[in-house]
Amino acid sequence: MTSPSSPVEAADPFTAPFGTLFGDKITIARMEAGDEYRYSGSAEPMENFSLHPATHALHYGSTCFEGMKAFRQDDGSLAIFRLDDHVQRLAKTVAQLYMSVPDVELVTTMIVDAAEANAAHTPDAPGSLYLRPTLLGTQVNIGAAATPSNSALFYVFASPVGDYFAGGVRPLTIHVETETPRTTPQFGRAKAGANYAMALGPTLDAKARHGADQVLFASGGDVTETGAANFFLVDSDRVITRELDDSFLHGVTRSSVLALATDLGYEVEERRISLDELREWASRGEAFLSGTAAIIAPVGTLKLEGDTVRFGDGQPGPNTLRLRDSLTDIQVGAATDSHQWLTPIAG
Ligand SMILES: *Cc1c(COP(=O)(O)O)cnc(C)c1O
Repeated sequence: MTSPSSPVEAADPFTAPFGTLFGDKITIARMEAGDEYRYSGSAEPMENFSLHPATHALHYGSTCFEGMKAFRQDDGSLAIFRLDDHVQRLAKTVAQLYMSVPDVELVTTMIVDAAEANAAHTPDAPGSLYLRPTLLGTQVNIGAAATPSNSALFYVFASPVGDYFAGGVRPLTIHVETETPRTTPQFGRAKAGANYAMALGPTLDAKARHGADQVLFASGGDVTETGAANFFLVDSDRVITRELDDSFLHGVTRSSVLALATDLGYEVEERRISLDELREWASRGEAFLSGTAAIIAPVGTLKLEGDTVRFGDGQPGPNTLRLRDSLTDIQVGAATDSHQWLTPIAG
């Protein structure tokens, strides 16, 4: 069977759009009728696979994923950033979907095996090998709408990615959505496709009506996160982000930023952020988004209750860039990994 993408060797991850190039190896485990997940023990060729048209995930949303990166280190070796945290979060999401959770050891092995099998396709920093563990409910039964899938497919593939901001970091324009929520209360913390489907309408609407790149969800004035990234305020003294609860995704980048901010001597505040504070902060501070794909993305402009609110001169601020550099330095082995966030792998 032919690969749907162009051969990875021939393509340049620094010019290809994020997520459109794929490594040529995948690790796959299957779970049937409530039994254990079974993995062959090694990576296979990355090929199309077939699914019965009545597959549970295709009808009832029994699918979720993770996203993390392996970075080429300054010394030429490879390491995965915060592997254990991503594995733990996957387990929580799968449990939230009421499906059988694969063992932590199995998931870890399959991610490492997929990364090692695709290691040759890892671009140099600031590029990386993005790893995408994915789990699908594969029970063939369209009558199983109100029961979890008793079978599943779990796999890990890789995507060589360049710098998310090809041509330099560009500050984003963000629409603040105060009415429509990003997702439902019971799915806030789940890294599931369903959440992206729910955020799509408000995001397209914000693009069309406000020229916005992203939507910052703030139902009832409670500022949480965008469709795919956590939100921060920063100035030269303080780093502020929403306190953790079940309403939003607990980003691994978010937790990394908070740890580094503490290391760098910022005062860290995890608490609620109001719309008034956004306006007030814009007059003197900075804002940014955090997530694995873009790492840290500066916010230049907010569209807030009909107003256009600019942060500084609309350019990335010094504190945002400082936090971004301190994080990327650890990811590529240019700074000491004092939190032990890197897992070395072969390749
Ligand atoms: C993945 C994701 C994030 C960012 O999480 P990281 O672990 O930092 O990549 C934020 N919000 C949502 C909704 C996400 O799916």
